[in-house]
Amino acid sequence: QFVRRPLIAGNWKMNMDHMQAVALVQKLAWTLDDAGHDYDRVQVSVFPPFTDLRGVQTLVAGDRLRIDYGAQDLSDKDSGAYTGDISGRFLQRLGCTQVLIGHSERREVHGESDGLLNAKIRAALAHELVPVLCVGEGLQVRNAGEHVSHTLAQLDGALEGLSAEELAELVVAYEPVWAIGTGEVAGPEDAQEMASAIRAHLAQRYSEEFAAGVRVLYGGSVKSSNVAAILRGADVDGALVGGASLEAEEFAKIATFE
Ligand code: PEP
Repeated sequence: QFVRRPLIAGNWKMNMDHMQAVALVQKLAWTLDDAGHDYDRVQVSVFPPFTDLRGVQTLVAGDRLRIDYGAQDLSDKDSGAYTGDISGRFLQRLGCTQVLIGHSERREVHGESDGLLNAKIRAALAHELVPVLCVGEGLQVRNAGEHVSHTLAQLDGALEGLSAEELAELVVAYEPVWAIGTGEVAGPEDAQEMASAIRAHLAQRYSEEFAAGVRVLYGGSVKSSNVAAILRGADVDGALVGGASLEAEEFAKIATFE
């Protein structure tokens, strides 16, 4: 009954070394198989640290797993004298199909601006990586009642100058910062309110047709116990999961919305 194929995405953040990563993906794949997971109905992706990607690629390719994977960030540059950075080209060659862009921890800890995120989206698209653009407000903004305008401004900043054709596969993850890793979950109504506002805004910016194809995820303390209610929102097309994606059984339950 979903209009768009739901996406359940696991953001591992800076957790799991390369050996733990392989074990976690293996266990996740078994658990999903045991549960008879239908990947055509619900897409499952993981976003491990960069150093895990080679191991995950080997496992996924070798065992023909249907789990998708991507990185938590990328450089806006392609190659060159950018010590410590990782380019979209490298990610593409490692079989990544998606990439997180503008996670609130990148915005906060690394001061990533809308302009930089715009360049990162362009870099992702240049290497056929689906950008999963994270937006969302902090507690102060929420308390001031400015969460919708704040989040839509982030969206506009990151999408500046990009066309509907370029963004055809865009995924937007609405993650209220006050609900990330705090155990505070925005209510299903809050998730739907923002997902619908994002879609309406994209319809205005581009077209109804474009907006109808964009997947909008909710993220912020999603667990197997609250995912079903959140996904009932007509405009909520999946979840970006942090803490609860580090445990295979729990993440598999989220992916099957049990
Ligand atoms: C996240 O980091 O994207 C996130 C949603 O984290 P958590 O699920 O732990 O709140």
